[in-house]
Amino acid sequence: MEAVLRLLEMDEVVDFVRRVGGEHGVDVLRIMAEAGEPVTDEYIAGFLGVKVTVVRTVLNRFHFWGIVDYHKERDPDTGWYTYTWFIRMSRLREALLEEVSEREREVLEKLDELESYMFFECPEGHERVTFEVAMELNFACPVCGKPLKAVDVEKEKRELQEKLRELAKIKAILRS
Ligand SMILES: [Zn+2]
Repeated sequence: MEAVLRLLEMDEVVDFVRRVGGEHGVDVLRIMAEAGEPVTDEYIAGFLGVKVTVVRTVLNRFHFWGIVDYHKERDPDTGWYTYTWFIRMSRLREALLEEVSEREREVLEKLDELESYMFFECPEGHERVTFEVAMELNFACPVCGKPLKAVDVEKEKRELQEKLRELAKIKAILRS
């Protein structure tokens, strides 16, 4: 479970968990990893200071992805069922590896594009176009009319390479 805590320090993992589990996804997963044993939704809700229904929604979303599961036990006195939830590490690992591979492909594609073309963009972020298209537009943003500026390719390349290093780190943790 320590691996989960290390993974949750990575931006890319945080994005993924948030996308899958929603706003409280990261906190729920962290509490489960820190507990190190199956816990009830009430336990998680208590830690987070939110309603149990909020936690249940997150758990259901994770469950849909198979990255958490539960044990169901019936209290012989009250007849009530208790659900204790735990992280399915193998499935979490699988889902993250898929995610990381996909992100790597995207980043490599972007790097390749940056190597192959010159890009121009609106300072307000409306448009990003190749040199040819920028010429057709007379270097004016079609949305706001501001002059299009050459993209700082080197800076973007450095950022993408940094992203690749982060993805490689995640993979290393997943395989450890
Ligand atoms: Zn613009």
